[in-house]
Amino acid sequence: MKFFLGIDWGGTYIKAGLVSPTGKIIKKRVYTSKNLRQKNSFIRNIELLVEEFGKDKIKGIGIGAPGIINTKGGLIYYLPNIAGWKNYPLKRVLEKRLKKPVFIDNDANVFGLAESRVGSGKGKSRGIFLTLGTGLGGAVIVGGKLLEGATSAGELGHVPVSLKGKHCGCGSRGCIETYVGNRYLLSRYNRISKPNKSAKEVKDIFEMAKAGNKQAIAVWEDFSYVLGRFLAGMINVFNPQVIVFGGGVSGAFSLFKPLVKKAIDKYAMWPQLKGLTLVKAKVSEPGIIGAALLAKESLLLHK
Ligand SMILES: [Zn+2]
Repeated sequence: MKFFLGIDWGGTYIKAGLVSPTGKIIKKRVYTSKNLRQKNSFIRNIELLVEEFGKDKIKGIGIGAPGIINTKGGLIYYLPNIAGWKNYPLKRVLEKRLKKPVFIDNDANVFGLAESRVGSGKGKSRGIFLTLGTGLGGAVIVGGKLLEGATSAGELGHVPVSLKGKHCGCGSRGCIETYVGNRYLLSRYNRISKPNKSAKEVKDIFEMAKAGNKQAIAVWEDFSYVLGRFLAGMINVFNPQVIVFGGGVSGAFSLFKPLVKKAIDKYAMWPQLKGLTLVKAKVSEPGIIGAALLAKESLLLHK
């Protein structure tokens, strides 16, 4: 049987796995990202992995990268948190070196693909997939396929929900990401809870809300309202059958789901809500599996 090499390129860790065509991880390796920041070491590492896993066994390589990617050409436009990769033709370089087909997309799209094929969105032809963490990553599945542009389509985190909101890393203002990202949740909680206990992680705000802390509950209510209103707009555009919530903040899913649903029910156009479900992501290692499935599906398309 032929397998696919899936690479989940994160800010802290780079995880790689040999994955079966049905999305099962056969072998896995984890590296510290800072050791592989340089292009040479990153590429050399993939080369060694391919040798270790068995070159003959690998049909294609998929990479989920933390940045803005030209998916058609496999070119990295830039990685916001890793310097030195601007306009780098990673697909071309790796294919030449490894003599294997390589496909690259951004990490949120890769996550969406994994959840759509083997996770909470399985069997649905239209879905919205969110990674809630430092930022808000998004992927959209329409007609059973990942919505793709020539570059990274589906950048849901950078849809503005306020015309004069906070400045965002993308260069715009008032993006949904500036309302629901980790940093926003922490700073809002720490501002309104003063001089009481401050939160270091979003998990703390979740725990405090569960214990009945009023300020922590207010933060989640606010988060859910903004996210729900934003999603109502996305529901009107894409008419999804499922919205899948992943990323670190999804740990608080049980807390925010009813609140997000309340805002969605109130603000989306009601015919669009028929058959819609809100669910938590369930794939462990979606970055590895999604990247491998990206390679598998891209190869089928290009046959
Ligand atoms: Zn933005």
